[in-house]
This record gives sequence, structure tokens and C-alpha cells, in this order.
Amino acid sequence: MRVPMTEYLFIDLDTEQWVCRVCNHDLCTARDTNYKEGTLVYNRDPREIHQPIIDPEKYEFTFSPDPNYCRILEYYCPSCGTQMETEYVPPGHPPTVDMIWDIDSLRAQWAERGVDPQDAITYGPDVDVERHTH
Ligand SMILES: [Zn+2]
Repeated sequence: MRVPMTEYLFIDLDTEQWVCRVCNHDLCTARDTNYKEGTLVYNRDPREIHQPIIDPEKYEFTFSPDPNYCRILEYYCPSCGTQMETEYVPPGHPPTVDMIWDIDSLRAQWAERGVDPQDAITYGPDVDVERHTH
């Protein structure tokens, strides 16, 4: 049984793995583990995303983030390249932990509901494709 956790992530309760919802790639164990450990991380200079809006040759502050204070971490599925998450952190900061799930409780909750989570949760890449092509 696979539980959609975000637009691009499942937890497979049978294998206890974080799984990419786009390509079904097993990312890493979901038990007590941050899914980001199974992703590719691109540590980006924030000026690539938020370019200066005034001339950096003339002004110290350009409305573009200072890379000495801010980095953008982008997380990608290593199999299909889908971008799963981004976050702004100070340089050198490790990936943040945004969700760690109690697998046993998650399994018990879905067993109690008696429905397939993939039928009950109606958002995500496959549903969006269906919605926008019909
Ligand atoms: Zn993938």
C-alpha cells in the first residue's frame, strides 16, 4: 500500500520506502529517515534564481540574495530528475527535516480507514495529468 505524502512522494507501507510518485524509484527507507537523504541535491547560488534588479556594479544591495548568507537547496529524484522540494538555508546548513513519519501509526491509520490511500488522496502528478487532459 502506497500513501501519497506530497505531490511527488509516496511512502510504500509494504517496503517502508520513500518512493518517487513520478517514476516509482525507491529513494530511501521511510522509517525514521528524511526523504532528502535519497535525493540529489543541487546547492544553488541564490543570485541564479533571484537576479539583481538594479546594477550590481553600482549598488551593494540589489534585491538579490547574498550568497554568503543564503543558499537554495533543490532536491531531485535521482532516477527521473523531478524536482521534489526546494529550501532556503544559510550556507553549509544541512538539509532541513520537514517530515519524519511514524510508519507503524501510518499503517494502522490506513488499515482502520479501509480504503486505498491512492484512491482517497486525489492530488499529484498522475491526477493532475488526468485532470488537464480530459
Ligand atoms: Zn522519479
